[in-house]
Amino acid sequence: MNDKRIAEAIAKETERQLYNIELIASENYVSADVLAAAGSILTNKYAEGYPHKRYYGGCVNVDEVEDIARERAKELFHAEHANVQPHSGSQANMGVYMALLEPGDTVLGMNLTAGGHLTHGHPLNFSGTLYNFVDYGVTKDGETIDYEDVREKALQYKPKLIVAGASAYPRIIDFQKFREIADEVGAYFMVDMAHIAGLVAANLHPSPVPYADFVTTTTHKTLRGPRGGMILCKEKYAALLDKKVFPGMQGGPLMHIIAAKAVCFYEALQPSFQTYAQQIIKNCKIMSDTLQAEGFRIVSGGTDNHLILVDVKSSIGMSGKEAEKLLDEAGITCNKNTIPFETEKPFVTSGIRLGSAAMTTRGFKEEEFKQVALWISRVLKHADDETVRKQVLKEVRELTVKFPLPNEK
Ligand code: PLP
Repeated sequence: MNDKRIAEAIAKETERQLYNIELIASENYVSADVLAAAGSILTNKYAEGYPHKRYYGGCVNVDEVEDIARERAKELFHAEHANVQPHSGSQANMGVYMALLEPGDTVLGMNLTAGGHLTHGHPLNFSGTLYNFVDYGVTKDGETIDYEDVREKALQYKPKLIVAGASAYPRIIDFQKFREIADEVGAYFMVDMAHIAGLVAANLHPSPVPYADFVTTTTHKTLRGPRGGMILCKEKYAALLDKKVFPGMQGGPLMHIIAAKAVCFYEALQPSFQTYAQQIIKNCKIMSDTLQAEGFRIVSGGTDNHLILVDVKSSIGMSGKEAEKLLDEAGITCNKNTIPFETEKPFVTSGIRLGSAAMTTRGFKEEEFKQVALWISRVLKHADDETVRKQVLKEVRELTVKFPLPNEK
């Protein structure tokens, strides 16, 4: 690459990704094939519109790519219709909101400190400024979704749309219950399965597709594809939805990313993806159990999926912000996160969120994840001792180099 500054930043990032233990629950490592498609010459092509109905000439090959991506998405999730054009998860959500809502309409979504996403009504996000979001939360004792609260709020506020799905929720979501509540109040029901899409694809989390009018997702988390979004829906909404995505809110689709999504769906349809997804859950459970045995409080008492929330404040009197920084110094990457009934500011927080999807891709199994949890415990319990962090950093590097990035195998 002639651009030395960017080449250098990419080389350093490659090194960081290789040496560090990546526990950010929304990240993963894509395969060499996904990376090749994302870095392909398809980035050169304009293709506004949809396959076989474009506003540009020369689309014969990208039509093939988008047809394949849509067919595989439908096969993978047993959906009637797929729109693979949203550039991101946020835009996937925007596409559905535009299809169903008028500005000012009421929407019921998950409380953000309890695990919901920015696009589920944060006051600084387009969702919170354009629409009237009201929220449901989790129970105080079990810290799992309070379905009674969902029903009461639905009856009280009569939302036009109910949104389920989260960025930091470690438990199974009961989509059927949400559907029943939506039917009771005559609301549409949308599920944002961004975090759990890979687990849904592998049948390890109940699918929202039979219950929701619309299902949105990112393709880059547990699904292990390129950074991007997708919307699934019933055939009866297909024409409306497609019109809202283009020309409603986007211009030309990112054809290189759509090709990479197609490759990702192909990979997720293989039996090896099932094994991968099972291992994600096993790894997360052992990380959770080990931290619990070390005396840390895990929100909701454990996990059913790829992530856990560790309440570092009540466990060892530390903020999430401080824990994130200390772990970073020891080569372990995670993020501070609010926990249910949070008392700290979003930039401080009482918790950290830890996910197992990325390191499972690298080949970590239970033994390695147990070790990771022990390192986390050691670093956080010896916050005043820099030598502990240096020692852990050394041990982390000795382990991570044995598990190359998928594109370098
Ligand atoms: N929805 C959920 C549940 C998410 O966790 C995220 C991202 O973290 C998004 C949507 C947004 O995705 P993106 O960052 O691609 O806009």
